[in-house]
Amino acid sequence: MRIITDFDGPIMDLSDRYYHVYQLCLAQVREPDQSINILTKAEFWADKRAKISEQQVGIKSGLTAAQAETFKQIRDQTAHQLQYLSLDRVVPSAIPALEQIQASGVELIVMTLRRNCELTVAFEQYGLDRFFPLDRRYCLGDNYHKQGDIKDKTQLMAQALIDLKPDPNTWMIGDTETDIIAAQTHGIRVVGVLSGIRDLDRLTQYQPDRIVDSLATAIDFIFANIKD
Ligand SMILES: [Mg+2]
Repeated sequence: MRIITDFDGPIMDLSDRYYHVYQLCLAQVREPDQSINILTKAEFWADKRAKISEQQVGIKSGLTAAQAETFKQIRDQTAHQLQYLSLDRVVPSAIPALEQIQASGVELIVMTLRRNCELTVAFEQYGLDRFFPLDRRYCLGDNYHKQGDIKDKTQLMAQALIDLKPDPNTWMIGDTETDIIAAQTHGIRVVGVLSGIRDLDRLTQYQPDRIVDSLATAIDFIFANIKD
């Protein structure tokens, strides 16, 4: 049996980083005398999970449409800079869940659209490399030219299925439509988790095999549904 898990969402909580970058970019774009409405962290994260666009977030925060365009551009250039990655936190129940998978002997793979250097930073910060030997990591190369989330993830999945020996009892766990589509494209069962950047309405539209709160509950579900 094999479990392939996405990283950001099931294991890492990016909400603090994204909220910090949101505030930074808002401060950069606003005029000094312009009154703006800074969303609370809860409001901001609910919007991100509902897939509200960056421009719309900017407008809700009091920017003009033109400012919101600039806001989106600055935000996209800033959000993934290495200096902000230390703001990411581990989802509290994720470590025990990873330990549970490891102890069970199930093959565990991480599959993420982070670049190798971005994944390494998080692994070192939180000691997560113990769960994922080098040949169990699927991520983007540091110089890889990104082609879009769904295409990139579906290609990572294709590569993994070439590298790994076939296992009909393979499950994917992820927090966005990207994970669900990548798994479904290759006929792999997929569990959506709500600990990441999509809410129930968004995930439901893509019809994963199950939607649960977290990696920990995904593991419970998968272990209860093992077909040998
Ligand atoms: Mg994710």
